[in-house]
Amino acid sequence: MSSEIVRPHTADLYDAHVLKNYGRAPLTLVRGRGSYVWDDDGRKFLDFTSGIAVSALGHCHPHWVESVRHQAGELIHASNLFRNPLQGELARRLVQRAGPGRVFFCNSGAEANEGLLKLARLHGMRKAGGEEGKCYKVICAENAFHGRTFGGMSATPQEKIQGGFRPLVPGFAFGKLNDLQSFTDLIDDQTAAIFIETIQGEGGVNAATPEFLRGLRALCSQHNVLLMLDEVQCGVGRTGKFFAFEHADVRPDAIGMAKGLGGGFPIGAIWIGETSAELFKPGSHGTTFGGTPLACAAALAVLDILEREDLLAHVTKASVAWHAELTALAAAFPVHIKGVRGQGFMIGIQMTEDAPGWVTALREAGLLVPMAGGNVVRLLPPLNASTAELNEAVALLTKVLQARSA
Ligand SMILES: *Cc1c(COP(=O)(O)O)cnc(C)c1O
Repeated sequence: MSSEIVRPHTADLYDAHVLKNYGRAPLTLVRGRGSYVWDDDGRKFLDFTSGIAVSALGHCHPHWVESVRHQAGELIHASNLFRNPLQGELARRLVQRAGPGRVFFCNSGAEANEGLLKLARLHGMRKAGGEEGKCYKVICAENAFHGRTFGGMSATPQEKIQGGFRPLVPGFAFGKLNDLQSFTDLIDDQTAAIFIETIQGEGGVNAATPEFLRGLRALCSQHNVLLMLDEVQCGVGRTGKFFAFEHADVRPDAIGMAKGLGGGFPIGAIWIGETSAELFKPGSHGTTFGGTPLACAAALAVLDILEREDLLAHVTKASVAWHAELTALAAAFPVHIKGVRGQGFMIGIQMTEDAPGWVTALREAGLLVPMAGGNVVRLLPPLNASTAELNEAVALLTKVLQARSA
């Protein structure tokens, strides 16, 4: 079919048949290579959305494509009633990164977080001497985002996400990020876990400080409370370390991962440290699609490429000059930019107003970026974005800012 026919057709089909739960851009993407995508008119965009931090290696990395293509011809899915040759190896590689413990595979960030919230219940029962329903509370952070399932939503204290869906899961309380006292005040005998994003993504790119994370670690150890970190967005190399909490030199009791792990293929995972991994017994948790050979092949390809191309070092090194450029941009346009924050390739530009308008203007200029809470424009380049591509994004931002200031 020629693009002249496809374009109006696609929009009409969405209008007529697709659930209207997204505020979607009027753009149909048909092809991607590296840091670029093309629409059905043949227009090229620099893609610093990366599928919301999912396409960690850009689009169609040749080694990733070859691995997925090969595995699709061997075995795609056989269920968790049997072993497959790739799931054990992927678990080993994640344990190598996270520390002694065990890994469970699922399909999304929300599903990973559900697993963590169930872990909190099992730990609470252990803490209460085996009695169920006595110790079940979870303390999360204001502005958090943990997903759209009932558990994830209950851990996400935002009206736009919870509204219309109450009653929620009971037992959630919310402290202020980076205010250790507010978390300390909320802990009691019924607290099973503290659960936060190491760097809040959807909430506006707000990082937990190293001191705060170390404080939470001590607080949790003191009260026999699990420290569970949601690294669904900030994990798998996005900040220049494999896990963002490595910057603070702390070890959580459990970790949720998803977005970047499959490089575009849906896969989620939870890692549970060895003192709690045995809480899950045969039959106590599961998922049909988790850890299929195909999903694991995709994730193993991501880990291979991260290592072979030394991408953690690349993110760390390339982000120094890039952050300096972005900070200079903020200084040059104080009327529009309040500040720039984040780490590595996870950046939030805090606008003074109208983040949606900026995202639209940037798209029209050729740069795709997502928004975040509180008037923030996020930049999430692929981890292998080149210095030239990072500079191109700065040039496009500059052009759009100049046009608005003229
Ligand atoms: C995206 C995200 C989730 C939810 O992941 P889904 O795959 O959309 O279910 C959870 N936590 C964080 C921090 C996220 O960024």
